Amino acid sequence: MEEKEKTYGQIKKEELFYKKKSAFEVKTEKELDDARRYADGYVKFLDNAKTEREAVITAIELLKAAGFREYHVGDKISHGDRLYLNNRNKGLIAFKVGKGDIEKGIRITAAHIDSPRLDLKQHPLYENEGIAYFKTHYYGGVRKYQWATIPLALHGIVEKADGETVTVRIGDEPGDPVLCITDLLPHLAKDQNVKPLGEAFSGEGLNIVLGSSPFFEDGKISDVDDKVKLNIMIMLNEKYGITESDFISAELCAVPAQNAVDVGLDRWLIGAYGHDDKVCAYPEITALIESDSEYTCIAALADKEEVGSDGVAGMQNRMLLDVINEISSNLGGNGTVVRVNSKCLSADVTVCYDPNYPEVSEKRNSAILHCGLGMAKYTGARGKGGTNDCPAEFVAEVRKIFDDAKIVWQTAELGKVDQGGGGTVAKFIANTNIDTVDIGVPVLSMHAPFELISKLDLYETHRAILAFYK
Ligand code: MN
Ligand code: MN
Repeated sequence: MEEKEKTYGQIKKEELFYKKKSAFEVKTEKELDDARRYADGYVKFLDNAKTEREAVITAIELLKAAGFREYHVGDKISHGDRLYLNNRNKGLIAFKVGKGDIEKGIRITAAHIDSPRLDLKQHPLYENEGIAYFKTHYYGGVRKYQWATIPLALHGIVEKADGETVTVRIGDEPGDPVLCITDLLPHLAKDQNVKPLGEAFSGEGLNIVLGSSPFFEDGKISDVDDKVKLNIMIMLNEKYGITESDFISAELCAVPAQNAVDVGLDRWLIGAYGHDDKVCAYPEITALIESDSEYTCIAALADKEEVGSDGVAGMQNRMLLDVINEISSNLGGNGTVVRVNSKCLSADVTVCYDPNYPEVSEKRNSAILHCGLGMAKYTGARGKGGTNDCPAEFVAEVRKIFDDAKIVWQTAELGKVDQGGGGTVAKFIANTNIDTVDIGVPVLSMHAPFELISKLDLYETHRAILAFYK
């Protein structure tokens, strides 16, 4: 068929209008293959990094294999160093010291490695009518009903009073038992069914089934009270050497027992627990390892974003600032000058437009699946409350970096105005006088025990961070 000549109107429209493109429309077959391969590495990372502690350990393994060494505050830093700071096993600051003048600024990317889950309380173990349970206190924004009747794994550490650390990880290996929270049968859910979704499940009702058999002695059921609890405590004591009081200094949490898996017959989506925000943390680490920038580059992974970024390992902590100051003074630079010339991508997931729930998003300004990473000039809620709202000048700078590197990217907004909203760590970094903008991978079913992301959007995030470090 002969190609029709374009009209003036068509030409002007192509020239002047913005058109969002799917990565499928612009990527070569080889690039699609690269994205698939990259996703394989991510899936392995994710399965080993369900908690922030596990993410720190797994990221350190990748960094060590790439020649990074451990750094402690106060150590000497020189041009060319590849270092990481382990912040209390819950946060990580990895950095490559470039050859260039440090006062030209640092290229920083920041993500968080904690994800919503059910933490055990400090006195978690009890028995009720022959069933042993764990009491939980949910962590972060969870929709409680999603956590009942799914297999749960138990992850974390018990820090004993004598200083020994016991690592716990039950429910993820083939053959492991799993834990579970029960729900009502539909036959008897008449009252529960008419409650608003947010009230049908109470926080105190999220009790985890842990066991159901009594302790036996001499072939007979023991005559003590709480014999099921005792049976469980004996098992825990035999396996981990702990007693009930050791729960006081433990960080144990229930996470979905499911590992990451391809979703869809065409295998372009990954379904997993904890994409938010390991799906941005992983690209930060891989891009840092790959980068050969003249600039000094930092990948900062923080804890506690899901509950406000407070505490010693949250992004409101001054550890990142201290590391910037240490790098600056070691290289003969002034930290204040370094910061004003530094730039940061705050990498956190964004909402992916869900055709099944179009009513909560404004499609024109939403991130669409497979259209690359999203850049959010602003986040926040109720009139941008609590947002960083990155100045247009820096948005333009980052936009040019992405376009020059042929990154597939789009803008993103967290839902319709006044529908809800959210925030990221961007503002805490911007508050230290560093230009910062939000970017991140669009997620379907965000904060659910099983979230979905696109392999293409993931790979473009890696490429975007690499281009930014450059
Ligand atoms: Mn997040
Ligand atoms: Mn989140």
